[in-house]
Amino acid sequence: MLMSVQPSMVGRILDARPIAEEIKRDVAAEVARLHEQNGIQPCLAAVLVGDNDASTVYVRNKIRACAEVGIKSDHHALSATTTTEELLVLIADLNRQEDIDGILVQLPLPKQIDEAAIIEALDPAKDVDAFHPANVGLLAMGRPRFVPCTPAGIIELLDHSKIEIAGANACVVGRSQIVGRPVASLLMQRHATVTVCHSRTRDLPSVTRRADILVAAIGKPGFIRGNFIRPGATVIDVGVNKIKSPEEARNFFGDEAGNRIKSIEQRGYTLVGDVHPAEADRVAGLRTPVPGGVGLMTVAMLMRNTLQAANRRRGL
Ligand code: NAP
Repeated sequence: MLMSVQPSMVGRILDARPIAEEIKRDVAAEVARLHEQNGIQPCLAAVLVGDNDASTVYVRNKIRACAEVGIKSDHHALSATTTTEELLVLIADLNRQEDIDGILVQLPLPKQIDEAAIIEALDPAKDVDAFHPANVGLLAMGRPRFVPCTPAGIIELLDHSKIEIAGANACVVGRSQIVGRPVASLLMQRHATVTVCHSRTRDLPSVTRRADILVAAIGKPGFIRGNFIRPGATVIDVGVNKIKSPEEARNFFGDEAGNRIKSIEQRGYTLVGDVHPAEADRVAGLRTPVPGGVGLMTVAMLMRNTLQAANRRRGL
């Protein structure tokens, strides 16, 4: 049974930009202090293999954020035909370099590369994405060395928005290593009652509709419809999907489709998350937009993790 919703309870957009900017400002101040007092400038190595459009944009944004906060970046762009062995040589070299604090290998890697072997080769102390099994294990035990960037960003968004996590019913749709599993783990550590859903979940809407906090990390445009959402719930949309037809844009964005259609005309696409925005806004209390939501937090948290790595590696 649906509970009644007051108009004032619905449709607020959780703009991540000011929160991400504040985190980056704090990191920048700390980086400046580290430089002044210890003569250290943290450094992040970013490794991009191939020319996947989305990955290229993500790496560019991360390098831009480094420049904003005063972290040095060391960019390695490798050809799409790179082998596992060649990438392992680079990782070993980056592990050895004393002045490199964080190593980011942008995923997904081309098919011929053994992704697990690459992740396991990272020095866990420089694994700022927290994908190495040692870091995954520490997180699962509730004593993380690094918290993976997207899940950490989600918790930060909830905290900043004063959404109570303890005791809440939280539902995570998606169980990937990168988002679904770690965010479920963090929500549980913060005392939420957590349900994790995936492609085999039966009658998904009846499960998601119980959630006070609903996290969608699926990779399917607008998959979470209005009837999946509990009235007044907080909806965190992790998905980043390209849509290319004005028709789809009108369906997803309703009255606000104008700018999205313009963007399709100019760039050939617009972005939509895993949540149907127009329908969600009629039911949800709060929703993160795409773009302008979780993605911005991911980059900000990467900056924070790199600073932490620089401090910890030097015992500071
Ligand atoms: P993924 O590895 O492809 O995992 C997708 C998950 O969704 C899987 O667990 C899958 O279930 C589940 N799923 C697929 N179809 C489903 C269905 N019909 N019903 C219920 N569950 C379903 O994806 P990911 O890496 O977690 O990424 C998810 C989305 O987030 C993508 O759009 C990605 O681009 C985006 N993303 C954004 C950021 C950011 O910073 N904003 C960061 C990372 C990822 P099974 O396990 O059963 O297959």
